Amino acid sequence: MKSYHDIAADGGSNVVGQVEGQVARLRARLRRVRHVVAVMSGKGGVGKSTVTVNLAEALLQQGHAVGVLDADINGASIARMTGVRGFVPRHGPEGVLCAVSISGLRVMSMDLFLPGDRTPVMWDAPTQQGGYVWRPMVEMGVLRELIADTAWGDLDFLLVDLPPGGNALANLADLLPELAGAVGVTVGSGVSQLIVGRSITLAKEIAGVEVLGLVENMGPHVCEVCGHSEALFGDAESVRDMAHVHGVPFFGLIPFDPRIALCADRGIPFADTAPDSGAASVFAAMADRIALRLLETDLVAQ
Ligand code: ADP
Repeated sequence: MKSYHDIAADGGSNVVGQVEGQVARLRARLRRVRHVVAVMSGKGGVGKSTVTVNLAEALLQQGHAVGVLDADINGASIARMTGVRGFVPRHGPEGVLCAVSISGLRVMSMDLFLPGDRTPVMWDAPTQQGGYVWRPMVEMGVLRELIADTAWGDLDFLLVDLPPGGNALANLADLLPELAGAVGVTVGSGVSQLIVGRSITLAKEIAGVEVLGLVENMGPHVCEVCGHSEALFGDAESVRDMAHVHGVPFFGLIPFDPRIALCADRGIPFADTAPDSGAASVFAAMADRIALRLLETDLVAQ
């Protein structure tokens, strides 16, 4: 059996032609999307997917057409959080049909292609040798396909939930030069602020992507019984100060609210369940500020 080291040129697969075709489809697809916004942290577990879904819901409630792309190929959670697991993607006249959540979010995720709960993402190859070389390339190819081949229709916003890892935004920016900006998510701990801070620097200085704002997640939890408020993450510097140091807007503090996790597990919109909550108002305010900022960009471009 040959490994790719033994194959002369592209082995007759016309891989360059295939990629060029896919990139052309990507460009054509994105002409119908007004703004692509990435949600990033660099750090896992800080609530990036939760913020993506709730920000998407808030934009939807403001009357925008919104899609959510789960770019976390190996840790896909958006389908579960939006209640669309079980939807089987099929080909339609304009491409692969995306799932539509109960509220109207258009969703695409690797999760929809997995046959069961216990099946991880695995790539078929003639040999698993050197997998560390080709796996990232295959994953970028999959991401390109998920965007290019999905029949998103006309969208005002496509939110991209990035995987953890400092280079995730740079990879996406390479793929999508039309990226309008990124939203940073951190929790209040010093550890998280360190990692997320580096991602913000990388976004601004290396990837050349505007950071539209930074939001702090999992702020103090208020006990429903006694009303006592307890901070979950130590006494690190405030995230508001961190945003200031990095020269990016501070979007606010989303409290730790068990109803957020419950809604995510059940795949139902939190904003409908607790419309008067502090968290729902932060998501709505974020949506306002992002929509306004990108409207400005539109006006300048005209
Ligand atoms: P990430 O995408 O950064 O890995 P997730 O969005 O998957 O993180 O969040 C991790 C877990 O924390 C999930 O179970 C989610 O429901 C929960 N969670 C996130 N933010 C909050 C919050 N503000 N209050 C309560 N639970 C939250």
